[in-house]
Amino acid sequence: MTVTADELIEEPGRTSGAHPAVGAGELTVWNRAMVDSGATLNLSGVGRPTVDKHSTGGVGDKVSLVLVPLVAACGAAVPQLSGRGLGHGGGTLDKMEAIAGWRAALTVEEMGSQLRSVGAMIAAATDDLNPADRRLYQLRDVTSTVDSIPLIASSIISKKVAEGTDALVLDVKTGSGAFMVDVDRARELARTMVDLGEDSGVRTVALITGMHTVLGRSAGNALEVAEAIEVLNGHGPDDVVKVTLALAQEMLTLVDIDVDPASVLASGKALEVFERMVTAQGGNLSVGLPVAEHRQMIASPAGGYLSRLDCRAVGVAAWRLGAGRARKEDPVSATAGVVCLAKPGEKVEAGQALLELHCDDLDRFDAAITALEEAIEVVDEAPELPSLLIDRIAR
Ligand code: URA
Repeated sequence: MTVTADELIEEPGRTSGAHPAVGAGELTVWNRAMVDSGATLNLSGVGRPTVDKHSTGGVGDKVSLVLVPLVAACGAAVPQLSGRGLGHGGGTLDKMEAIAGWRAALTVEEMGSQLRSVGAMIAAATDDLNPADRRLYQLRDVTSTVDSIPLIASSIISKKVAEGTDALVLDVKTGSGAFMVDVDRARELARTMVDLGEDSGVRTVALITGMHTVLGRSAGNALEVAEAIEVLNGHGPDDVVKVTLALAQEMLTLVDIDVDPASVLASGKALEVFERMVTAQGGNLSVGLPVAEHRQMIASPAGGYLSRLDCRAVGVAAWRLGAGRARKEDPVSATAGVVCLAKPGEKVEAGQALLELHCDDLDRFDAAITALEEAIEVVDEAPELPSLLIDRIAR
């Protein structure tokens, strides 16, 4: 059964019954006004509880590609409306667009019918959802308020309220590759978003997770899709698996689904949902992912233990290779990126290749290599590494 556009979409100013009128708090009133600036999706007809995740973004963060189908395979519907990347962190849509034929733009009818049949989607927000957010973002840019915690929180939460999800888990990243480098600011943002989500009628929990080094081993669009598929196949880097399962557990608890996400991941059911989700949006995995024409290696300056592989520097290098954009309208390369052949904590030999840079354009390598000049540190003793799962914030 398909859900019609009329059933799914609510007109500006007509707020969904699922999200009751706001009570206390200036920010909650502000948030509601943002939601009411446009249409909202009504997902009550999709036949499963709905739950989504938002990450504040980091380098190599391919978690949504695994998490969305995994949580759907556990029995929820995941209606992820996502964005394209700006700056050194890549956007989820850019990653998915590395898959041949995959399209981000779905009509509301397609969203409804995909959520009913597959239980999962990753798609671009339609233009009529939350137009105030786009206007306000431009204003924030010229008023130096891009970093304002209440404005970041309302920008993120108002989009999720407009999307119509019942519940939301936030992955607030902290560390050199994160938007919130400082852990106290990350906690403050998480607390503000949890309160705002709850006050807006969306059950909300936040995890604070580390972004001191690349998540997984790759940063770059097709490279990250390949790594996400490895995880869906039951392999892949431990840190990606750990963050994904922690977020999945929180999402399932919020919608009262008592299923172990680790066993569902191991069963291959999440991979099946991923394939169906890709196919439903025109993607063709059987032709393989695109691969860069050129590669260059960066070697370890010494033998010992890799103690630091700076996350932001790797992100900037991937961006300079073409994986990210400087302006909203810039194209991105599907193939460009960086593969970390070693990660902090691992033993390395002098001269051993640590990083593999991928790019179609030879002229881009020098600038990427410059970004990495101060990024690598090798020490004699095994280093203590920063935590990956740092805190959990709930009301
Ligand atoms: N992501 C958003 O959607 N809005 C912000 O303001 C910052 C990050």
